[in-house]
Amino acid sequence: MIKYNPKSLIADEFINDEEILLTLEYADKNKNDLELIDKILEKAKQNKGLNHREASVLLACEDKDKINEIYNLAHKIKNDFYGNRIVMFAPLYLSNYCVNGCLYCPYHIKNNNIPRKKLSQEEIKKEVIALQNMGHKRIAIEAGEDPINNPIDYIIDSIKTIYSIKHKNGAIRRVNVNIAATTVDNYKKLKEAGIGTYILFQETYHKKSYEYLHPTGPKHNYAYHTEAMDRAMDAGIDDVGIGVLFGLDKYRYEFAGLLMHAEHLEAVHGVGPHTISIPRVKRASDIDPTKFDNSLSDEMFYKLTACIRIAVPYTGMIISTRETPKVREKIIHLGVSQISGGSRTSVGGYSEKERPHDTEQFDVSDNRTLDEVVNWLICNGYIPSFCTACYREGRTGDRFMELCKSGQIQNCCHPNALMTLKEFLVDYASPDTRRIGENLIAKEINNIKTQNIQDFVKKQLIQIENGKRDFYL
Ligand code: SAM
Repeated sequence: MIKYNPKSLIADEFINDEEILLTLEYADKNKNDLELIDKILEKAKQNKGLNHREASVLLACEDKDKINEIYNLAHKIKNDFYGNRIVMFAPLYLSNYCVNGCLYCPYHIKNNNIPRKKLSQEEIKKEVIALQNMGHKRIAIEAGEDPINNPIDYIIDSIKTIYSIKHKNGAIRRVNVNIAATTVDNYKKLKEAGIGTYILFQETYHKKSYEYLHPTGPKHNYAYHTEAMDRAMDAGIDDVGIGVLFGLDKYRYEFAGLLMHAEHLEAVHGVGPHTISIPRVKRASDIDPTKFDNSLSDEMFYKLTACIRIAVPYTGMIISTRETPKVREKIIHLGVSQISGGSRTSVGGYSEKERPHDTEQFDVSDNRTLDEVVNWLICNGYIPSFCTACYREGRTGDRFMELCKSGQIQNCCHPNALMTLKEFLVDYASPDTRRIGENLIAKEINNIKTQNIQDFVKKQLIQIENGKRDFYL
């Protein structure tokens, strides 16, 4: 019998099947115990998070009033730590060459229906200019796993190219990286290249399903994949982003695994994941999502999101354009702190006039432009933020977490959100977005409590109006 040990560096010990099954049993047994649920909610209200067992009871709870309480608490916790800001980003697909055989992914090696494409540095430049012209400052680069076509040096060169391009007032100031599990040496190279977050989705924590869903290629190795974040952290990357591809296995199993992974990172490295992503399987070339019979209803998806927010209050939560505007409308109130906007999921998609579909990684369900998404967020009472200051100021890993836990992060993030939104309004917004955005800034500036910071921001807003860029605290 393999024993559960969150401090172990062995995948089967820190993501322990027996512990997950016992957790689900415990959650089933207690899901209607309102007294226990109240106790767990009381603990959660102290903003210190919950362990995977406690959170699993909340996820299993069927009481309507309690579920509403969970939603309200998720909203409140998000506001306590992250305020009413939503950070904006876009994915940039570099290459769809891949040697893996993942059953859910259109990049799988046997898919002869998609043209294979890898961007040259010149093509990356075009993509980046297109992204900058939309107003993006933060991107996540994505690539299939292929040591010949997409070796680490290609990824590093691409990052250098992306950071080097300054078109008009544009700049990509933070490059997050979503590439396959790799070695400590390669993670060191990524760290040296100045990446923001290293993102790697577990896909599924269920080992048997994992091995079935990844029948061939290096990704087949469950332990190597599951232990990747430890290698990344050993290499000095202290902002890592984890996630599950919901639909592949039972969501309650994944939820417990996800939280155990967060607990493991905290126990071993002293800092939990910087972000958690919650993608759901989508239709794509050669992929029929209905073949995965663990699909998650929207209602369950909302509950799951709120429960993650309550369990790990300091971790950013990301929603992509895999979700429709309707789902995003509901879910932004349940604890999400980052969303993508204006995304194109095909290799070279941003430089094309019309959205190309031939190399898409998944069907995009929110086709709005970045300006439309920004407009929508403002109308919903949020501040769209293009801030990238934290990692540039060295606020990463445990330093970020400390500032976040103490609530001090608000003193930087809120002013930075207003200054970067102002840049967006001046450089890229439609007249209507500019109008409502300026009103929002005028209102929100009064919420900066420290007078000298408020004065500083007011001064910089005028500077931005006069053509200066890139102010941050
Ligand atoms: N190749 C890298 C790896 O192996 O982790 C990551 C890049 S891949 C472009 C990013 C993510 O897209 C995957 O980790 C997976 O979760 C997600 N993905 C793959 N197929 C998908 C589908 N059909 N629908 C939604 N998301 C999908």
